[in-house]
Amino acid sequence: MKNKIGIIGGGQLGRMLSLAAKPLGFEVHILDPKENCPASQVADKHTVGDFKDKEAVLDFASDMDFITYEIESANTEAIEEIYNKHHNNSKTRVIPYPKSLELVKDKFKQKDLFAKYHIPVSNYREIKSREDIVNFAHEHGYPFMLKARLNAYDGRGNAVINYASEIDNALIQLGANKSSSSHLEDTYLFDYSNLYLESFVDFDKELAIVAVRSVDNEMKFYPVVETVQEDNICNLAFAPALVTDTVIEEVKLIATKAAEALDYVSVFAIEFFLSKSGDVILNEIAPRVHNSGHFTIEACKTSQFEQHIRALTNLPLGSTELISPAVMVNILANKVAHLDIYGRDEVLALENTFLHIYGKDMCKPARKMGHITVLDQDLKLALNKAKLAASKLKLHG
Ligand code: ATP
Ligand code: MG
Repeated sequence: MKNKIGIIGGGQLGRMLSLAAKPLGFEVHILDPKENCPASQVADKHTVGDFKDKEAVLDFASDMDFITYEIESANTEAIEEIYNKHHNNSKTRVIPYPKSLELVKDKFKQKDLFAKYHIPVSNYREIKSREDIVNFAHEHGYPFMLKARLNAYDGRGNAVINYASEIDNALIQLGANKSSSSHLEDTYLFDYSNLYLESFVDFDKELAIVAVRSVDNEMKFYPVVETVQEDNICNLAFAPALVTDTVIEEVKLIATKAAEALDYVSVFAIEFFLSKSGDVILNEIAPRVHNSGHFTIEACKTSQFEQHIRALTNLPLGSTELISPAVMVNILANKVAHLDIYGRDEVLALENTFLHIYGKDMCKPARKMGHITVLDQDLKLALNKAKLAASKLKLHG
C-alpha cells in the first residue's frame, strides 16, 4: 500500500500537515536542515538535510510514495526530476506540480502571467536600471513598492518608497547594494536582478481565499477571509469576510482562473486587495496551505491541511463548509529569547478558544510562534476574545 508522505520543509505548515496526515493513517517524513524543527516533533521521521540542495531532496524522495512541499524555496530541479521520473509512471506522486511552482516562485513572473490571463493586478515593472525606477515613479506616482522577486515572506522583501529621496535606502534595505564608491554617496552600484516595482494599492481591505483543485479539476473554496496586516505581516484573519456577494464571486472567479493558468493541483491561497472603489486586485498566490487558512482547523468541516493531504494522495476532497464564524490571531514574538509559555491556562479558560504552539524553541522579533482561533456566531465578540486571548499569552519570562 502507498503510505509514505514526504514533506519538504519542516516549519509550522509542515507540522500542521503532519498532524492532519496521521489520523488518516499515513507515515510522515520531513526534510529540513534544522534539528528539532516544528514538524519533526510530530512526524514519524525527520531527515536533517537542506531542501535547497538537489541531491538531498532526491535522496529523501527516493523512498516516498508522495512528495509535497511547504516552502517555495525547495529545490525546483529536484522536484522536476522526481516528477519526470516517477510521477507519470505513478511511482512517487509530487504535488503541487513543479511547473506550477516555477511559475509562481518569482513574484514578478507571477504578476506577468496573471496579467496575461486578464486577472487584475497592480501596476508592476521589472528593473534593469535606475532609470526604470524613476520612469515608474513618473508614470504611476508615489508611493510605490520595491519588492524582492524571490524567497520573500512576512513582508521581509518589501519596501515602500514615498519620495525620490527614499529610493537608495529602499534598495539598500532589500540588499541590492553590490558595492559603493568610497567618496560619493550617490554612486552605489546596485544589483536589480532580484527586485521589481509595484504600485501601492490604497486598499479598503485585504482579503484571502484558500481553495483546492483536484487532479480531475474539481475545485472547492473555503469562505473568503479578511486579513489584517501590521508592518506587512499578517496579524489576524477572520471568516467570513464582511463583503458583498459580488466580491465573493469575483474572488472565486479569479481563484479559478489562476489555478487554471498554473495547472495547479492541491491547496493554494490567494491574497487580494479590495480597492476603495470595490475592485478585487490579486496581490499574490501561495502554492501551499496558508496562514489565512489556519482557522479552517476548527471552523470548517475539513481543515486546509487535511484537504491538502487528500489532494496529494488522491483521496476524495472534503467539505469546505464553515461550521462557525472564526477569528485567528497570530502569536508573534517580539524579541530574542527562549520560548517559555505563560498564560496558557487563561487562554484555555476562554470558551471556544483554541491554542496552537508551533514548537520553535527560540523567539525572534516578528517570528510566528503560534496562533489562536476563536469560534463565535458573533464575529465582533470573537474578535475581542481573540485579542484578549493573545494578550494573556506570554512567550518568555
Ligand atoms: P506574506 O508572506 O505575509 O504573504 P510577503 O512577504 O509575500 O508576505 P506581500 O504579500 O507582498 O509580502 O506583502 C505583505 C503586505 O504588505 C500585504 O499583505 C500588504 O499589507 C502590504 N502590501 C504589499 N504589496 C502592496 C501594494 N502593492 N500596495 C499596498 N500594500 C501592499
Ligand atoms: Mg503576502
